[in-house]
Amino acid sequence: MMNKKTLIIGAGGVGNVVAFKCAMNSKIFGDIILASRTKSKCDIIAQNIKEQTGIIMQTVQVDADSIPKLKELISNTSASIVINVALPYQDLTIMDACIHMGVDYLDTANYEHPDTAKFEYREQWERDEEFRKADIMALLGSGFDPGVTNVFCAYAQKHYFDEIHSIDILDCNAGDHGYPFATNFNPEINLREVSAKGRYWQDGKWIETAPMEIKMVWDYPEIGPKDSYLLYHEEMESLVKYIKGLNKIRFFMTFGQSYLDHMRCLKNVGMLGIKPIKHKGQEIIPMELLSTLLPDPASLGPRTKGKTNIGIFAKGIKDGKPKTIYIYQISDHEKCYEEVLSQAVSYTTGVPAMIGAKLMLEGIWSGKGVFNMELFDPDPFMEELTIQGLPWKVMELGANEDLVVPEERV
Ligand code: NDP
Repeated sequence: MMNKKTLIIGAGGVGNVVAFKCAMNSKIFGDIILASRTKSKCDIIAQNIKEQTGIIMQTVQVDADSIPKLKELISNTSASIVINVALPYQDLTIMDACIHMGVDYLDTANYEHPDTAKFEYREQWERDEEFRKADIMALLGSGFDPGVTNVFCAYAQKHYFDEIHSIDILDCNAGDHGYPFATNFNPEINLREVSAKGRYWQDGKWIETAPMEIKMVWDYPEIGPKDSYLLYHEEMESLVKYIKGLNKIRFFMTFGQSYLDHMRCLKNVGMLGIKPIKHKGQEIIPMELLSTLLPDPASLGPRTKGKTNIGIFAKGIKDGKPKTIYIYQISDHEKCYEEVLSQAVSYTTGVPAMIGAKLMLEGIWSGKGVFNMELFDPDPFMEELTIQGLPWKVMELGANEDLVVPEERV
């Protein structure tokens, strides 16, 4: 049998975790090649992995905006799979290169055009036919959210419900990095997401809200009550399509007051703009400048303390009776750093990316075309989560119980 070759594109916080975790499962991933725009970042990751695991990986420079360059890279490396953990802007070029070269593809975030802060699967789903024709598979959104949250929904549907009526996806990061303002993953992608209008789905239609208009206080196990704001998040688009009986889905993320105050000021002075402006005769994009000024998310690892808790809260019907469950995963920033030199936000994204790719290489999740996570049997993925460092829990609640704290109790 030919040795497998795994090509990872992107050497940021998430790329670091994927590279570490693939090296820790090197029997499955075979030879690992780490490619990114800045080769020196790949070299640092490869050196750390060599010291910690003894695994040696090849590093390569690539411009993932260029399909010819990507084709050349895939051809030179004879990759069996491409794990895309660069930025969402590169999804389509990498997918197209995979189609041309007949190689399986996986990512963790849906395509975004650099000039429009709009998240949708349309252009990636439209490539389904081409993936089928090329006899290859694309797995979309194999991070935590999207990713594990989709798998949690599929698991709830398979084991706990005949019909799920409502889902709240709850994303809590109670970590503290000590900076007045920093983002836990790529600043540009993060700020575009949280400054956009909110949206949720109810009774067959999308309902739009102003950014951060809806706040609820959820009581997160092992963390406590936290202000949580309704955002639009990409996994809702596929869950609405694939979870039967669903009539409401919302997504909440926690934010502290300091983060929100900074965001408001930056927005008011135009620093979140994504259109070029003229500055001393030069064109600059305010959001890109801000991204350069903010701490590199990869540098937050050694300073971040505290926990994350991400899960799904689902209500529905089983055997004719109402049922409520909460499936969640708690990670500790310092423990993640100890293991792979990254904080929990990168860890909880990188581990599921590795697991998705592992199941594809093993043929446990297989198919031809473009797939979202909830289309596959959730059980093998759930098992791997526990084995690979993301153990989860299920809490069964009374039909009318929930974890929402009335504000006066906080
Ligand atoms: P980073 O900004 O830390 O890393 C991105 C990496 O991609 C950098 O190494 C960057 O290179 C590289 N890159 C950017 N453009 C190109 C290009 N044109 N060609 C080659 N390489 C390029 O981001 P993160 O690691 O935090 O995030 C990675 C991905 O994970 C993003 O898509 C993000 O949206 C996604 N994500 C998903 C989550 C989930 O739960 N599903 C949660 C968090 C993140 P350089 O170093 O030169 O800038």
